[in-house]
Amino acid sequence: MKFGGTSVGDASCIARVAQIVKDASSEGPVVVVVSAMSGVTNWLIEAATESERGDREPAAALFEALRQQHDAALAALIQSKERRAQIAARMEAIFVEGERLCKGTALLRELTPRTLDAVSSLGERLSAPMVAGAMEELGVRSESVEATELIVTDPYHGGADPVMDRTRQRCTALLQPMLQDGVVPVVTGFIGATEDGVLTTLGRGGSDYSATILGAAMDAEEIIIWTDVDGVLTADPRLVAEARTIPEISYREATELAYFGAKVLHPKTLRAVVKQGIPVWIRNSFSPEKNGTKITPKGRTNGGGVKALTAIKDVTLISLGGPGIVGVPDVVGRTFSTTAEVHANVLLISQSSSQNDICFIVSSADARRTVDALRKEFAQDVRHEKVEHITVDAHIAIVAVVGENMRGTPGVAGRVFIALGQENVNIIAIAQGSSESNISFVVAEQDMKAALVATHREFGLGSAATHDRRVTVS
Ligand code: ADP
Ligand code: ASP
Ligand code: MG
Repeated sequence: MKFGGTSVGDASCIARVAQIVKDASSEGPVVVVVSAMSGVTNWLIEAATESERGDREPAAALFEALRQQHDAALAALIQSKERRAQIAARMEAIFVEGERLCKGTALLRELTPRTLDAVSSLGERLSAPMVAGAMEELGVRSESVEATELIVTDPYHGGADPVMDRTRQRCTALLQPMLQDGVVPVVTGFIGATEDGVLTTLGRGGSDYSATILGAAMDAEEIIIWTDVDGVLTADPRLVAEARTIPEISYREATELAYFGAKVLHPKTLRAVVKQGIPVWIRNSFSPEKNGTKITPKGRTNGGGVKALTAIKDVTLISLGGPGIVGVPDVVGRTFSTTAEVHANVLLISQSSSQNDICFIVSSADARRTVDALRKEFAQDVRHEKVEHITVDAHIAIVAVVGENMRGTPGVAGRVFIALGQENVNIIAIAQGSSESNISFVVAEQDMKAALVATHREFGLGSAATHDRRVTVS
């Protein structure tokens, strides 16, 4: 069971979590994975980046605020004086470590990826002992475990991947005896360590991935990701008020949604369980009586082709072209070797058949270095006017229509575009993968919400009864 940031956001949330785990652990062994209290990872990253400028004050103030927040939660949760003192001492050591890392950063005015990972990991290292303590308060034997002891990763700071066979060995050696002893382990999400013990993080929102990595390593019967919404919804409820919970969805559909911005799931989450086909549930820790969404290898059809929509706006459109591009051999090859060299995450590619223009989308965080590298790579061609332009547009969004059964359902794209036309939403680019489980289109950022609402309505995704309302075009 994994509990996200809002699910452990304050003392009353943590108490609710402890009750959910208590109920489940009476039925079988449970391993718990926790995120940092909500907002904490952002603050830690801010403390580290402010320190890099050589200014010590912001980090000191942020750590003071974090101390107060955690102390207040601890005092409200743990009645036993002895237990509270133990946890407080452990938390204090973590704060001191964080302050030391930030002081060092300020002194050197340098923030390495390794130090950033060490600082951003502190939130999970603080929340895990508190959650374990809350369970002990309810009479459930529980111990917190740092995932650096369990998840062995590659050394890619800020987005590490697990080395599964080593992780499995560690989990068997450490967690199995605890479970046999009737102890509930509470593991820090988001983090791991290399074989040499250097701490790494799995990427922002990575606690979901921690849960499936550990679930796979332990051959779990099922994995439950507890969050603050009722499951995977037909669209982000913050953007589409009529969005509703999807009872069952396939690994592939859920991955497409996550990849194109549905924050409810980290994009790599299902990778870890593909081989074993372990079901992954998304459930609401604030409404545990609800079923939530079951993510299974094959999913279940909803009667129509389209399952859900998603959108992502922190992305940048880069286009490269001009009439002369036809004569430049290997433009496509050179373009994408360049993006690969700078490790840019390419989300969508579209090219016109006349080859006048190649456009593709990268995460905005990667845009600057991608464009710089492309300008360098094509400098000669631009000078000789073979390539006319390299342009950049950061004010766009990708909207993705997802559903495995769109395959073989004619007319989906047509209906999307008619619906958008009626709302006066202009489409900048379109892409559909050959798997046909995703149609993505690019719109101006300010049209994103209207595009989602119109498409959601067109496919009747908000009503349980009709999923596939046909349009009549006269
Ligand atoms: P946690 O802290 O539990 O990991 P997140 O904030 O990372 O939770 O993810 C949950 C949030 O994802 C929801 O509050 C919701 O706003 C957002 N979200 C975006 N798209 C979807 C979707 N299709 N279904 C459900 N939630 C979504
Ligand atoms: N605390 C981490 C983050 O905010 C990981 C997570 O919540 O999944 O990115
Ligand atoms: Mg999350």
